[in-house]
Amino acid sequence: MGIAESRGHEPAVLVREGGARVRDLAPGLVGVPGLESVLDTPVPAAIKPAAAPAQLRHREFDDSEFWRAIPGYANLSRDAFLDFKFQNKHSVTSVDQLEKVLGSLASPAFIADVRAGMAKAPMNLRLSPYTVSRMDWSDPYADPIRIQFVPVASLQIPDHPRLTLDSLHEQSDAPTPGLTHRYHDKALFLPLDVCPVYCRFCTRSYAIGGDTDTVSKARLKPNSERWKLGIAYLASRPEIEDVVVSGGDAFMLPAAHLETIGNLLLSIPHIRRIRIATKGPAVAPMKILSDHEWTSALLALVARGRREGKEVCLHTHFNNPSEISGITRDAMRLLFSEGVTVRNQAVMIRGVNDSPATMTELVRRLGYMNVHPYYVYQHDMVSQVEDMRTTVATTAEVERHVRGSTAGFNTPTFVVDAPGGGGKRAVHSFDHYDRVTGISVYRSPAVHADEAYLYFDPVDLLPEEGQALWADPARHQPMIDAAVEAAGLSHLKIVSG
Ligand SMILES: *Cc1c(COP(=O)(O)O)cnc(C)c1O
Ligand code: SF4
Repeated sequence: MGIAESRGHEPAVLVREGGARVRDLAPGLVGVPGLESVLDTPVPAAIKPAAAPAQLRHREFDDSEFWRAIPGYANLSRDAFLDFKFQNKHSVTSVDQLEKVLGSLASPAFIADVRAGMAKAPMNLRLSPYTVSRMDWSDPYADPIRIQFVPVASLQIPDHPRLTLDSLHEQSDAPTPGLTHRYHDKALFLPLDVCPVYCRFCTRSYAIGGDTDTVSKARLKPNSERWKLGIAYLASRPEIEDVVVSGGDAFMLPAAHLETIGNLLLSIPHIRRIRIATKGPAVAPMKILSDHEWTSALLALVARGRREGKEVCLHTHFNNPSEISGITRDAMRLLFSEGVTVRNQAVMIRGVNDSPATMTELVRRLGYMNVHPYYVYQHDMVSQVEDMRTTVATTAEVERHVRGSTAGFNTPTFVVDAPGGGGKRAVHSFDHYDRVTGISVYRSPAVHADEAYLYFDPVDLLPEEGQALWADPARHQPMIDAAVEAAGLSHLKIVSG
C-alpha cells in the first residue's frame, strides 16, 4: 500500500516505501553540522501533504536594495540608507516632498488626491524613507502601507454618526497630562507627542503630531516638569506594577531621556514591568542597528531590570508582512540575542490585514523573528478614517482562522478597546452583537462594573437594511436601546465614545 513497516526495539513505525532517507528528502540538510547522524534515517510516511510555498512565504525577507526603486533614493548605498540619521532627517513631511521623492513613480492625479486628502486628515504627514520604499507605487491605492499613512480624498467616506475624537477617553482617565490610569495595576505614560511616522488611524490624534487643518491638539511636548508629575503620581500609587511608556513614540526620545525615564521608573519599588512602545521597528528598523547610543540605552534598562527582577520589554506595531524586510529581521535578531522581549500590537485595518491569509502570514512572520504577536485591535472609532475600519464580524472571523495556525503563545488576542473607557475586551466576548445594525455591546467588570460599552461597525460594510437604518437619525437611539435590551444590560449605564 505504498508503505512498509519496520520493527526494531522501538514500537512499530510506518516508513516510506523505498526507504527514503533524510538526505534524499531534505538535501539542503546535507553538510549541516550536528545533523550527520540523522541523514541516513528512514523518514516516516507523510500524513499531511507537503506545505504549499505560500505557507512558507513568511520566511522570505527582502534583502534587496529595494529603496533604489524610488527615484529620490536611487543613488543611496546600503550604508547610507541604514543610517538612522538619514531616515530621520529625510522624513517626508509634506505632499510636495513626497511628489519630489517619487518623481515619475506617482501620477499627478494621485498626488492631487493626496493633497485633497490631507486637507481633511486629523494627522499630519510623516513618512520615513524606509516606509516610502516599502510601498508598491505601481498600485498605491491598494498598497497596505499607503493605506496606513497617506490619506487620499477619493476613498474618504463619512464618519459613523456615533464617533467622537478621544473615543477611548484617555484624557478623562488622566490624573495629569500624559498619564492615563484606567486599569487597577497598570498605567500609560506618554512622555512625548511625536512619532517617526504618523499613522492616519492614530487613536491619539487628539494629541499626536502637531495641529492639522481639522484638529488642534492637546500638548504633550517632551518636558521634564510634566514627566516629573507623571512619575510622582506613579510613585504615589503602590498598586501600579506595570507602566507602558508610549506617546508619541520612544524611538523619538533621545537616548539620555529614555535612560532617565526608564531609570526613574525602575527605581520605584512597586513597578515590576515596563513596556517601551514604539512603531519604530516597523518604520525605521535600522535605528536599532545604527543608533548605538539609543540601543545601548534600551539594553542597559533591560539589563538593570533583569538584575532587579523586573521586566523591561519593547512593544511594537507591525500591521502587514510587507513592512518587514531583511533589515527588520536583523534588528529583531539583535534584540533577541541581547535577551529583549519584543511583542507586537497590530490593528485590524481594511485592505491592510483584514483577511485570514494576510493576518496568518503576519503572525507567522513575527513568530519567525521571535516577536510575540500580542494583540490585534479592532480599529478604534477615529475621525476621517472610516474607510480603514472593519466589522466585529470580520475580526472574529480572522481570529478563528489564525487561532490554530501556529503556536498558541504566538497567537494574538483579538480585542476591541471599548469606546468610552471600558478597556480591552476579547472580540468574541460581546453580550450581544447585531450584524445588521453593526452594534456590539461589551461589559468590563474589572474596570467599571456598572457600565456597558458600545462599538459600532462602519456603516458602509453593513447589509443594506442596516445602512438604511443608520440613514435615518430618528432610528439611532431605538436601535441602540434594542441592542442593550437584547444583551440584557438595560440596568447598566451605557457608554459609547
Ligand atoms: C492598553 C492599555 C494598557 C495596557 O494593557 P494590557 O492589556 O496590559 O496590554 C494600560 N493602560 C491603558 C490606558 C491602555 O489602553
Ligand atoms: S506611531 Fe502610534 S502614537 Fe504615533 S501616530 Fe502611529 S499610532 Fe499614533
